[in-house]
Amino acid sequence: MEDGVEEKTEDKIIVKDVSKLKKEPNMKDYDEACASFSEDTYKKEIEFFDDGTLNAAYNAVDRHLKTPLKDKTALVWIGDDSEKTFTYKELAEESNRFANVLAKHGVQRGERVFLFLPRVPELYISFLGGMKFGAVVGTLFAAFGPSAILDRVGNAEASVLVTSPELKPRIDEIRDQMPALKHIIVTGDYEPGDGELSFDKEMASVGPDFDIVHMPPKERAYMLYTSGTTGKPKGVIHSHYDILHQHLTAKWILDLHEDDVYWCTADPGWVTGIAYGILGPWSNGVTSIVDGRRFDPENWYKVIHDHKVSVWYTAPTAIRMMMREGPELAKKYDLSSLRFLASVGEPLNPEAVWWSLENIGLPFHDNFWQTETGGILIANYASMDIKPGSMGKPFPGITAAIVDKDGNEKPVGKAGDLAIRPGWPSLMIEIWKNKEKFDEYFRNGWYITGDKARVDEDGYFWFIGRADDVINTSGHRVGPFEIESALIEHPAVAEAGVIGKPDELRGEIIKAFITLQKGYDPSDDLMEDIKKFIKKRLAGHAYPKEIEVRDSLPKTRSGKIMRRVLKAQELGEDIGDTSTLEDD
Ligand code: AMP
Repeated sequence: MEDGVEEKTEDKIIVKDVSKLKKEPNMKDYDEACASFSEDTYKKEIEFFDDGTLNAAYNAVDRHLKTPLKDKTALVWIGDDSEKTFTYKELAEESNRFANVLAKHGVQRGERVFLFLPRVPELYISFLGGMKFGAVVGTLFAAFGPSAILDRVGNAEASVLVTSPELKPRIDEIRDQMPALKHIIVTGDYEPGDGELSFDKEMASVGPDFDIVHMPPKERAYMLYTSGTTGKPKGVIHSHYDILHQHLTAKWILDLHEDDVYWCTADPGWVTGIAYGILGPWSNGVTSIVDGRRFDPENWYKVIHDHKVSVWYTAPTAIRMMMREGPELAKKYDLSSLRFLASVGEPLNPEAVWWSLENIGLPFHDNFWQTETGGILIANYASMDIKPGSMGKPFPGITAAIVDKDGNEKPVGKAGDLAIRPGWPSLMIEIWKNKEKFDEYFRNGWYITGDKARVDEDGYFWFIGRADDVINTSGHRVGPFEIESALIEHPAVAEAGVIGKPDELRGEIIKAFITLQKGYDPSDDLMEDIKKFIKKRLAGHAYPKEIEVRDSLPKTRSGKIMRRVLKAQELGEDIGDTSTLEDD
């Protein structure tokens, strides 16, 4: 166990002694940081242009070119059979080139530029370049299938899409349904077809200098689609001002110091991979590791060992998968370079915290946030005692509370809706073309997270569950409606209701209840065919692992399938009086 970290078993708390930690934390005292916090605490860390504008990508990368960080390695990329490194200067120049490519093809500021790529250097370069150009950059998880892509790129009316030769066939299937899409830029050794451009050739045709666009703080910067209970995924829009919160939380929560080798395992198709895989860490001047390969527990330990990772930010399902391999695997590698571990995305069970303390010598620090919040809101800090199982305390300057359905605060210990007082810099600025949806997030002066939680007498927040039907599988947020819509497109499926079923490893797995069209038998082959159908159309991670065929599904008076009843039945819980269920 690390010096300065002590297990206090009687009340299940991990006690910190700051003076004995491997490194003095950037935030030494939580209460003191809260007391002295102001908007200026954020602002003094960030470089604004003389006219009061800023650019998040400039802050992440280019501002370091005036310092010794210029020639430091910013990115270490690990591929299947090669590795590449980029200094801050190289990242700045490559992303400038990408901005120049957009300019060359007449793309306008504010147009949507989408990236559908695996974790390759081009993804990071085009993200930064798009932001420098003043485009609205959208990312797409590489597991998405054609329907999921169309729901996002089509809705955003993107004019540019960057993809790889392997992923492009999924675009080809839906290309004619995306009339706004003008340019498809394909990476790698690729001979472009009609209406396509070669990434490499385009990058070689332009120079490495670019006048980074000055963006008013609340102008659109990037967008991500996220799922709610109903309807198609919604486009969450973030601004350049996000960088204030992302920089400071990376510094105070992930405790990034300039000499850190930092590894965020998240894919930039999700918000963590952007805020803490690109903007926040580079703004803090670290060397960042990107492992472009598929998850493999042994490879992960090897990455830490080989690259001497010091700060590691990952997710509970991955931690549980590594735990499943047993401590022997962890012991095979030298993990002594690690000094801070953090986790996000789904509930982190206390066993995982105790496991890492015992087997890695450090506890995982859970933290909570969402696509919409643009940065971490509640966290366990390097200098603060941990209550394993708790998400920790609100970041300095953030007011969090548990509220009732009218937005009134509930007393300590009571479960309710987790709410945050708006005003922090990285809160989304809009939902793409859906003001009504945006407004639904706010109640009585609070931003409502959609999660249920409670707060204890010491101010620690404890996650209880989603307030809606949204599913969290392996840390991926999945909307049941998307899956249900895809299911009923299969010729054999008449009706579908989808729920998250608790799962020890993945948090939840997706379970579908269906009725079949006349003439179909519920054979194993048919179930496999339905699973494949969803995997291909929607996403590799969003298919139902379990399908149950029923003669009929429970419905409201107006005919909507009642997922809550399906879930209660699955869990063997009392369904209650269904006649009182609201018809919503
Ligand atoms: P996303 O917007 O995809 O990042 O998903 C956000 C959702 O993930 C939250 O609304 C929570 O339901 C869940 N989540 C994120 N972090 C945590 C955490 N530390 N503990 C429990 N649930 C979490």
